[in-house]
Amino acid sequence: MPSPTSPSFSRRDFVKLTGTAAIASALVPKLRAAPAARPFEVSASLYAWDLHDEGVERVLDNLQEMAAVNSVYLIGVMHPERRPLGGGVFPHNPVRQTWTAEDARCYWHPDSARYGRIHPRLSDHAWLNQTDWLRVLVDAAGKRGLRVGVENSHALVDKQRAEGEFSDCVERNVHGEITHVRTWLRPLCPNHPDVSAYAGNLFGDAVVNYGLDYVTSAIVSFDEGGPGRGACFCASCHRVAAAEGLDFARIQQVLLANPAAEPERTTWQDFRQRSAARFYAGIHEKLHALKPGVDVRYSQHMANPADWGIKLSVLQPNLDSIRIQEYSEQTGNPALMAGKRAMLAGARAELGPDFPVHSAIAVRLKATPELIREGIRIAVETGMNGITLGHYDGASFPMLHAVRDGLADAGIRS
Ligand SMILES: [Zn+2]
Repeated sequence: MPSPTSPSFSRRDFVKLTGTAAIASALVPKLRAAPAARPFEVSASLYAWDLHDEGVERVLDNLQEMAAVNSVYLIGVMHPERRPLGGGVFPHNPVRQTWTAEDARCYWHPDSARYGRIHPRLSDHAWLNQTDWLRVLVDAAGKRGLRVGVENSHALVDKQRAEGEFSDCVERNVHGEITHVRTWLRPLCPNHPDVSAYAGNLFGDAVVNYGLDYVTSAIVSFDEGGPGRGACFCASCHRVAAAEGLDFARIQQVLLANPAAEPERTTWQDFRQRSAARFYAGIHEKLHALKPGVDVRYSQHMANPADWGIKLSVLQPNLDSIRIQEYSEQTGNPALMAGKRAMLAGARAELGPDFPVHSAIAVRLKATPELIREGIRIAVETGMNGITLGHYDGASFPMLHAVRDGLADAGIRS
């Protein structure tokens, strides 16, 4: 949430402005060249099964023609989830009605020489693992002049390996157990050196070998659930905390007896935020050494980042952009759009006027063309630098057309 000292802007100022360039130049009059030089980014996420089933050229035709998309990214490592999310069937997939994503499989072909102890795990299915889907997307998107990226979504490795060969890397709760807030998720601790090395290798491999414009991390940092159920109290956290001069054993003992105890709870929370920042500092430094100018984007994949040991302004120095995952459109409830505006305005205030921030727009489930157009208007009025469509696999064509209409309504040239 914004601090009292964060820059803020009145809504009246926003609504007087109709285009990104105008907003950007108004918000950063003296600091440096306005980010208006970069066009408003309209990005769309894609899954390997989208590309397999529909074909990359048709997918890109649809996204560009219907939704004015100028940026695409592959969900390179995906967590287990039934697709499309929330039930129902794919609205335009010609091959299958549903698909259940495997646990943390990688849908592109890593260069094994770039990895240390932890390597990506490919799909168990030949139709998914025998094609390098990032290569397919990069080659096709490059010919069209689209920006292209890759995302790692939530889990760095699958539950089986997290509980098995990487049990020394996995996050631990206050009882010392492998954290198990969700049935499928066993996050690896960002304080373990093998984990931070792996994340850097995984993104670095993709950046170097595919020439990506950006990478997006939706990797779970610290498991939610607070000191009572969440993470982390692993050996790596103890070691890093000791190096900071913290008596982590005593803090753990106090929080074991009372998860709400202060100041231990705040000390633990601040430690998590610093730890997440160091994790991204390592990734950012590595990727920029490999490819200066690459855009390291963090996806705020949760409604309340603090629950996951995240504070955006603490991460900010180690990032190039942030995506706010706010999906109110998919509820079908217009009353929730005020909450979207508040979240985006809060992020803009916390991050300052010239930091690139992108808003998700839900184009699936109960979304309507009206709500999609409103979501885009809110994104522009709150000074976002782009929108990210979530997700193509569940989006009917009228919803994609509503994106182009909404951009035109908001004065965004495409
Ligand atoms: Zn830990």
